[in-house]
Amino acid sequence: MGFALTSEPMGGAEAFLLMAEPGCCPGCAPNNPSAVVEVLAERPLTTGAGALRVSGVLRVSADADGWRYQVRDAEIARVVRRRTLMAVSPLFCLPVPAVAQAADGLAVDIHSHAGNLTRMSYGRGGFSAVADPMRQGGLSAISLAVVSDSPIIQLTNGRLRPGRDPRPGELYAFSQHSFPALHALAREQGMPIVRTAADLRTARSARPSVIVASEGADFLEGKIERLDEAYQRWALRHLQLTHYRPNELGDIQTEPSVQGGLTAFGAEVIRRCNALGIVVDVAHATFEGVKKAAAATTKPLVLSHTSLITRPAAWTRRILPDHAKAVAATGGIIGIWPVADYFPNIVSYATDGFARMVDVVGIDHVGLGTDQLGLVGASAMSSYADLPQLAAALRMKFNAEETAKLLGGNYRRVFEVCVG
Ligand SMILES: [Zn+2]
Ligand SMILES: [Zn+2]
Repeated sequence: MGFALTSEPMGGAEAFLLMAEPGCCPGCAPNNPSAVVEVLAERPLTTGAGALRVSGVLRVSADADGWRYQVRDAEIARVVRRRTLMAVSPLFCLPVPAVAQAADGLAVDIHSHAGNLTRMSYGRGGFSAVADPMRQGGLSAISLAVVSDSPIIQLTNGRLRPGRDPRPGELYAFSQHSFPALHALAREQGMPIVRTAADLRTARSARPSVIVASEGADFLEGKIERLDEAYQRWALRHLQLTHYRPNELGDIQTEPSVQGGLTAFGAEVIRRCNALGIVVDVAHATFEGVKKAAAATTKPLVLSHTSLITRPAAWTRRILPDHAKAVAATGGIIGIWPVADYFPNIVSYATDGFARMVDVVGIDHVGLGTDQLGLVGASAMSSYADLPQLAAALRMKFNAEETAKLLGGNYRRVFEVCVG
């Protein structure tokens, strides 16, 4: 979708450029050969003065002097009225081809509670659609997390905090409802469970997949053998050590530190995850905890949902550059969190959220962590159907190969090393 720029009279043109914004004359075509789409038609097309939706065969041209993207055998599918355009603004003003390209490869959300999983863990409500929006957006797999400490967490003055201590056996018992709910969701949505690196490598959005994850290892209740059980029985492949409760494994960012970051049991769980083939996620852990986790692990760490700050702040879930670098130094990745308070729209999520983290840790160490249906406030990317817009926004800063790494390639690399 875009605006035609043509040297022909308005009556019709067999070749014209499609630009993100209205141009006034051929001279206002951008210098960047990737910023417009060259449209070639078999017969003159009436372009008019408004926005157009063009269909045809998308080609990427190797001609160094030409435009990078071409649509051949073009037809004008629809003339978009101004009101429609305003409704999708500012997303419409992104180059179309980036969307088409990003949908080709593997794309993974590394932290999600999609499909109403948290409520369904209590047997409440029904599942909401997951697979359809993933197919629409071109997302291949999600790391879908049960929330291990959910029964005792409450919102207090805008902060999620433990409301009480769990009763002995309570959080393990809860996991015996939440993991089956996750599997029921995957079954209902026709989504295969990822058990091996090969499963993830071959995951495609036509039949999107689920990686079983837990946000918090509270269900272990200090018993290491329950990790083996979860690996076997529930196909757990991605474990976040802590959540909103300082638990048996370590401290968290949103409560006072009481156990030096990571406990001996936390280190034992990391080593067992390394041996079994479970990705270790240090989201919510303190910087001290992350440094100790980095020392304990032999595999890359993931910090699945956060974003960068440059100055310390109390009780924030965001991280300082050194905290991010400690994760990247293990070969791991940091998922960028689309909290709308920080990133009001998808363009800022990409060009500020992703790009600033890449500046600090490099292109190989950043991923997508939407925390879908887990955010307290609004999300800059509330639906997987919006993934093409994110891909297009990333393409404003990154090339196709870099964008593919950010949207899934980096997690795939970590998953291959950790899970095998
Ligand atoms: Zn979280
Ligand atoms: Zn979450």
